[in-house]
Amino acid sequence: MRLDKFVCKSTELTKDEAIQHIQSGAVCVNDRVVTEAATQVHENNRIVLQGVKLKARDFRYILMHKPAGTICSNIDEAYPSLFNCLDIDNASELHIAGRLDADTTGLVLITDDGRWSFNITRPANGCCKVYRVHLAKEISADVVPTLVSTFERGIDLQGEQQPTLPARLDIIAPKEALLTITEGRYHQVKRMFAAVGNRVHSLHREQIGRIRLDVEVGQWRYLTHDEVQSFS
Ligand code: URA
Repeated sequence: MRLDKFVCKSTELTKDEAIQHIQSGAVCVNDRVVTEAATQVHENNRIVLQGVKLKARDFRYILMHKPAGTICSNIDEAYPSLFNCLDIDNASELHIAGRLDADTTGLVLITDDGRWSFNITRPANGCCKVYRVHLAKEISADVVPTLVSTFERGIDLQGEQQPTLPARLDIIAPKEALLTITEGRYHQVKRMFAAVGNRVHSLHREQIGRIRLDVEVGQWRYLTHDEVQSFS
């Protein structure tokens, strides 16, 4: 990671303060003064600030059950922030790997490790997100095969050049489906069903990769080592 990021992560300094310290010659990497904030360093390097050896704090990886009516942002807008449910220090350093709409409930993964969240959200990585969808209109049994293959082929969304990547649709009941997608376009699930003449009544994310939602609404827990590694 960058030296300024390492200094931030291992101290209470802001990014600007870390850069000032580095540029003033206060930081040594393996006993040599380094004044370039963008220098790449590794946790195994000996990094010293004003004579004190720094130790990077560990990244945090959190699973939360998002309640309806909360937003996936640190900034309070029309709705309260999801982060209000997260009673931990320095929550403002965290971000969400794949946001949900205010009215969507379910699984969110929260971290301060940008590379890890990129692994989850980058469509080319093919990380599956499973949504339980309740629909406004019934899907009759005779159209199910056509609909399933439409989702599998990809759907043209209004205002977008590329069709959606192949998605798996499982019809559970006339007004209920499980949809598995590997992208996270704006309002994607709602727009996919709108494109086939239906409307999403309620939306709930159950799974990301092999991580399943297993806490009550509004609750959270840290991910296990294996869960973290599954996206590394
Ligand atoms: N697709 C949507 O339309 N909304 C969400 O919150 C997530 C996926």
